[in-house]
Amino acid sequence: MTTEVHKPWQNEKVAKLLEAMLQGTILEIKPQLNVQSELGFSFPSVNQLLNITDKEAVAILESLAEEGILVKKFFDKFLHCPQCGSMNLRPVYCCPKCGSGNIIRGRVLEHLVCKYASTEDEFLFKGRLVCPKCKQELHTVDADYRSLGVLYKCHGCEEIFNQPTIKWSCLKCSSITVGGKIAEVDAYSYSLNKEKRNWLQFEIKPKARLLQFLQSRGYEVKENVRVKGGSGAEHAFDILATRDDGIVLHNIAIGVEVTDKPLSLEKVFGFDDKTYDTGIRDKVLIAIPGVAPEASRFAARQRIKILESKNLEPFLASSIFPPIAREPETELERVPFHFKSRSELISDLQNRGYEIKENTKIIGRSGAEHSIDILATRDDGIVIYNIIIAIEITDKPIGIDKVFDFDDKAYDCGIFDKVLIAVPSLTPEASRFAQRQRIKVFEAETLELESR
Ligand SMILES: [Zn+2]
Ligand SMILES: [Zn+2]
Ligand SMILES: [Zn+2]
Repeated sequence: MTTEVHKPWQNEKVAKLLEAMLQGTILEIKPQLNVQSELGFSFPSVNQLLNITDKEAVAILESLAEEGILVKKFFDKFLHCPQCGSMNLRPVYCCPKCGSGNIIRGRVLEHLVCKYASTEDEFLFKGRLVCPKCKQELHTVDADYRSLGVLYKCHGCEEIFNQPTIKWSCLKCSSITVGGKIAEVDAYSYSLNKEKRNWLQFEIKPKARLLQFLQSRGYEVKENVRVKGGSGAEHAFDILATRDDGIVLHNIAIGVEVTDKPLSLEKVFGFDDKTYDTGIRDKVLIAIPGVAPEASRFAARQRIKILESKNLEPFLASSIFPPIAREPETELERVPFHFKSRSELISDLQNRGYEIKENTKIIGRSGAEHSIDILATRDDGIVIYNIIIAIEITDKPIGIDKVFDFDDKAYDCGIFDKVLIAVPSLTPEASRFAQRQRIKVFEAETLELESR
């Protein structure tokens, strides 16, 4: 069972934006005040490039920031009228006690004799300081009067205060909104996360070409796939390429590792482990910039194809127009096995791009020599497939011993794709064994043995 997760940069527009940022055409995406916009600001550089609304732009930028691809910085706060959305607001300073707008700001004096306090100009009388309440003259600071500093005074209720309340007056709909109720929108600027640069560089361009390459070869491609392994654990694969050519089903697990130093043995080991647990035998690991020597040796031993920076470009360049003969572009439909004769099967395999060797011999790992009915080999540019095919024709159901021998032979030859053509059929016991050993069985009532 597999699940595919879509990433934001797989969207065409997002990819275009990121490409511009990688190239340096756009360095930092900054918001700009725009009263026409529903948000109150726009990102002109994004709008110019992609022709999308400001809300869409924010959604894209935010999703990229969430993925850690972009770094966002607070830029400005934009205020809107909660009634009509207008940004055409004027602040009004008011008394925090009675709400009156009739307030003044100035140096406030307190007459210590009668405790009356007010702004300095209220005390000024013909060039002298006189208390407007008790009419006594003020003489010495900090003796009969003191300065409370620069404060506000309300003419409505006489309150003296430090900070006035701010209300917003909307010039569009005339409504008044208290400070806490105003609609605020924070705007951020966005720039590329330097640490993700190399990774993104692969993700945007070569990866797309790799996917095209796989698709052109008839693979169904899924990205960011989770596959449940035999152990019960779920494993994530960057790319899973699947191709059912009607004879065998091929899965290629492709891992992508972009690091700042050569990829460690541990990482390659981890990848190999995942493929083992999920039963995927064709393994490709893209390591940018490359792999450490011991990791490279391990990969070779475990038949993991490694593509490093230095060979990725040539690989992709050579594979844009696949020079594979006899391979129709659209052959995704599953072809049932319906061959009347051995030669029909062989020509079908040849049509699918397999090279055929008949009645051939292979020396196995044990040193024993095995005769093989049909060996089909296909190099599709990314992996080499070998299929071992045996044809058993008898007049009664074929028993487990024959199947066992075939499986053993394939194992000794190191071939995992096993096809057994059984005429007329297998015994139930043999059939169960074949299934367990992942031998693909075709039962055919007859198979013409024509002279070739
Ligand atoms: Zn006084
Ligand atoms: Zn007041
Ligand atoms: Zn308004």
